[in-house]
Amino acid sequence: MVLEAPPKPSSWFPGQAAEPPLPLITPRAADLTSRLPKTGETIHGHKFFIGFGGKGANQCVQAARLGAKTAMVCKVGKDSFGNDYIENFKQNDISTEFTYQTKDAATGTASIIVNKEGQNIIVIVAGANLLLNTEDLREAANAISSAKVMICQLEVTPAISLEALTMAHSSGDSKLPGTILSQKPLGDVFSGSQIKGEAVASLRCTALIDSGDAGTACRFTRAPLFPGTDQSIFSLKTLFNPAPATADLDPRFYTLSDVFCCNETEAEILTSLAVSSPADAGKAALVLLERGCRVVIITLGAAGCVLLSQAEPVPKYIPTEKVKAVDTTGAGDSFVGALAFYLAYYPNLSLEEMLKRSNFIAAVSVQTAGTQSSYPYKKDLPLDLF
Ligand code: ADP
Repeated sequence: MVLEAPPKPSSWFPGQAAEPPLPLITPRAADLTSRLPKTGETIHGHKFFIGFGGKGANQCVQAARLGAKTAMVCKVGKDSFGNDYIENFKQNDISTEFTYQTKDAATGTASIIVNKEGQNIIVIVAGANLLLNTEDLREAANAISSAKVMICQLEVTPAISLEALTMAHSSGDSKLPGTILSQKPLGDVFSGSQIKGEAVASLRCTALIDSGDAGTACRFTRAPLFPGTDQSIFSLKTLFNPAPATADLDPRFYTLSDVFCCNETEAEILTSLAVSSPADAGKAALVLLERGCRVVIITLGAAGCVLLSQAEPVPKYIPTEKVKAVDTTGAGDSFVGALAFYLAYYPNLSLEEMLKRSNFIAAVSVQTAGTQSSYPYKKDLPLDLF
């Protein structure tokens, strides 16, 4: 979640050893061995390390390092991993007010054994991640409704992600001063002056809400997200990263996503289309857009990303820098974190420009080993990104 606030200073964490290229939940412990053990066998490894992970945490760390005021809504165990995890957020200037700790489950972990060929065996125990519940979200409700951007993924239960997105979406709506109490037909367009003095461009009525004694209210579309509409009254944007993806994703995830951002593999799982080029990504993005998202972004690794929006429903390919990649683990999270930062702090930039900059930042991250340890800070990036 990205909140509006002045940039904060950060400190640099020296680079760590390369981590295996896997998306994981919270602390991730990896043993590097010459070969994988057989059942019942004990072998010696030559290296062991623990790193911080989880898509939400990575994305939050990247946004914070760019200067966003951030808070992490999640749950860890009341154990040493949980304590370290919270400490890591604090080190990154991330608010832990809604980082809950529970005695009822251990902090989510991913234990990985990697052999010298890079093959691995992984055991993920989601643990406390799965205990994040409605009450926790309610406690965070004020923070959620005052956020500029809320990012969700699928590393907590899908029902909770859905609930958080619903909360964010409805608080975005309730902030609309433009719930006009009158009988307006669907599709009718209001001018700014009718909306409690807000100087906004015209907005289209997309739903009629029965507001009891007050009569029928008109709810306005939040689209188009960017061109031509003053976004100032639509202060909360939802950024959904459907990872890890499943083919049977609840359809509400699409309609609750202002921005739906996934990688090629996730796009393939969600659409059953092969995605291996910008042209393929454009086709997959169209399928996703038709499910109700307002903006779809598909990242394409070294090739950059593709953008498609309801406001401009023609796929746009945004290539990225050619760099020498050392470790691409967590590049997608760096990209999503950077995008959230731009959506929150530079809402007047075109989406294309935001994506160019997010591409750049993610490309920086792949040039250093590690996940969070490779994410750049504002002070280390060119000034023209800000
Ligand atoms: P994920 O990490 O989820 O698999 P991608 O591999 O698509 O996501 O990478 C996300 C973004 O990171 C890309 O859109 C791009 O901006 C950047 N990126 C990834 N790999 C490279 C690379 N080899 N060179 C430059 N940029 C990269």
